[in-house]
Amino acid sequence: MDKIWVGTNWKMTKTISEGISYTKELKHLAEKITSDIELFIIPSHTALIDIKREVSNSRIRLGAQNMHWEDNGAYTGEISPRMLHEIGIDLIELGHSERRQYFNENDYEINKKIFAALRYGMKPIICIGENIEQKNNSASYETLASQLKICLNGLTEKEAKQVLVAYEPVWAIGEKGIPADSKYVGEIHTYLRQVLVEMFPESGLQIPLLYGGSVNLDNFLKYIEQKDVNGLFVGRTAWNMETFTVMIKEL
Ligand code: 13P
Repeated sequence: MDKIWVGTNWKMTKTISEGISYTKELKHLAEKITSDIELFIIPSHTALIDIKREVSNSRIRLGAQNMHWEDNGAYTGEISPRMLHEIGIDLIELGHSERRQYFNENDYEINKKIFAALRYGMKPIICIGENIEQKNNSASYETLASQLKICLNGLTEKEAKQVLVAYEPVWAIGEKGIPADSKYVGEIHTYLRQVLVEMFPESGLQIPLLYGGSVNLDNFLKYIEQKDVNGLFVGRTAWNMETFTVMIKEL
C-alpha cells in the first residue's frame, strides 16, 4: 500500500474558532508535504460547516465523529448521514472506544452505520480495540476478530474497499493510556490483515489499517515502520500544531 493515512480526531476539544485557526495552519503544511500522505481531520459537529469551507481547496479530508444510521427520524440529539452528506463530509469515524464506553455503542449498530455511510459515499473509519481485561486474559485476537466480523458483516468486496480500519487498544488511549509496544501493534495488525483477507479475498489487502492510542513524537516512527500499519490516528499529539507538524514532516 503506497499511501500513509495520518489524521486526528479532535474529540470534544476545539470550538469553531479554534478549529478554523488550526485548519489554516494545517493547510499551509499540507501544501508542502508529499502526496503519499492522506491527511484528515475530524472536528466536532458544530465546526464541520466552517471547517469544510477551510479545507475545500486543499487536500485535507474532512470527517465527522459519529452519526445515526437512519436518514431522518425522531432521534433527538442525533445527526444523520444525509445531513453530513449535505456538508460534503468525506469520512465518518465509527465505533471509537469512547463511544462504545460512554454511549454503549455496539458492533451491530456500527454495522448499520457503515451501510448508511456507504449509501452516501462517505468512507467509514471503523475503530476496534480490546480493553485491558481482554488483553490480560489473552483474548485480544478473538475480541478483535469478533469486532471486525460483526462490524463488516454483509459488505461486498466493492464496499469493503471503501472502508478504513483503526486499531485503537482501549488501554492505550487518552491521558491514562499506556503507549503500546510497537512489536505488539505490528503483530496485531498482521493478524487483522489476515482476518480482513479471509473476509474479503479480493479487497482485504487494500483496506488501510491505522493505528491509534497515545501516538507521540517518541513512538510514531516505530508504529509506522510495522508492515501492516498503513497510517496513524492521533489524538492529543496532533491537537497541538507544533507537534503534529514535526510528526507529519518526518513521515
Ligand atoms: P490519544 O492519541 O490522545 O491517545 O487518542 C487517540 C484516539 O482516540 C484517536 O481516535
